[in-house]
Amino acid sequence: MTDPQGRGGQALARAFLEQQQLLGGDVVILPDGPTLGSTPGSRPGSVDSRSHAIEPTPGASPGNPNTPAAQPASELPPAGISYDPPGSDLFATDPLPQARSLDAVAQLVASCTKCRLCEARRHTVPGEGPPDARLVVVGEGPGRVEDETGRPFVGQAGELLTKILAAIELPRERVFICNVVKCRPPENRVPQYDEIAACVPYLFHQLDLLKPAVILAMGGTAAQTLLNTKQSLGALRNQVHRFRGIPVIVTYHPAALLRNPNWKKPTWDDVRIARRLIA
Ligand code: SF4
Repeated sequence: MTDPQGRGGQALARAFLEQQQLLGGDVVILPDGPTLGSTPGSRPGSVDSRSHAIEPTPGASPGNPNTPAAQPASELPPAGISYDPPGSDLFATDPLPQARSLDAVAQLVASCTKCRLCEARRHTVPGEGPPDARLVVVGEGPGRVEDETGRPFVGQAGELLTKILAAIELPRERVFICNVVKCRPPENRVPQYDEIAACVPYLFHQLDLLKPAVILAMGGTAAQTLLNTKQSLGALRNQVHRFRGIPVIVTYHPAALLRNPNWKKPTWDDVRIARRLIA
């Protein structure tokens, strides 16, 4: 008679392996807990199959030799930058500081003409998600599909983000997802400094209203804006930064992962760190 627990373990292992395959890399780290799917003769803690070789390799970063090493599951990366920009002046004429809800911020964004990105936009993309979200994902700016729909992170990169969030058991519906700039830069170019400067008060105010447990900065523009730095994304990864006291984890943008699958493994390491901070 087949052991039903063994079947359950195999099913769990299969689901897990499928997630790892999705996230890239042929070597991945098992989460805490009992070993899943060990085969006779394999070393404890390893799952060995030709198609999905999994080995716990603490300290290794096999996806990209230029990326920092992964942390053991029980440890967090060291502290990084702490950025605490001054708050808005409540008595200023700008209506943003008076916006008491995410919807109110979205309404202000909808009529905003503070920078040239308003000229060619079809829709503003203020962000979406529940006001009590524990995780906020911040990207760079809307792309073509986002501009057409008014929703952040849709299209191919958005689908990948949804799968990444599912892999850490955070349904997209429970996450607030937004960008640094709320209107599409022409031809998906990187937003310019003055455009970011004009738009970032909306993001900062959204974060003040949300007060999430963790911010996941996806891509260099989001990371550099939230941390007020020019350091590269590679240098900013694998640290726990702070924005107004809220932990910030830096990782690759899903669009970059589509171009370079080698970055999926380090991204998986980063989102696991973010997940641990939310608990
Ligand atoms: S990108 Fe931001 S600042 Fe520029 S027009 Fe759109 S909402 Fe306004």
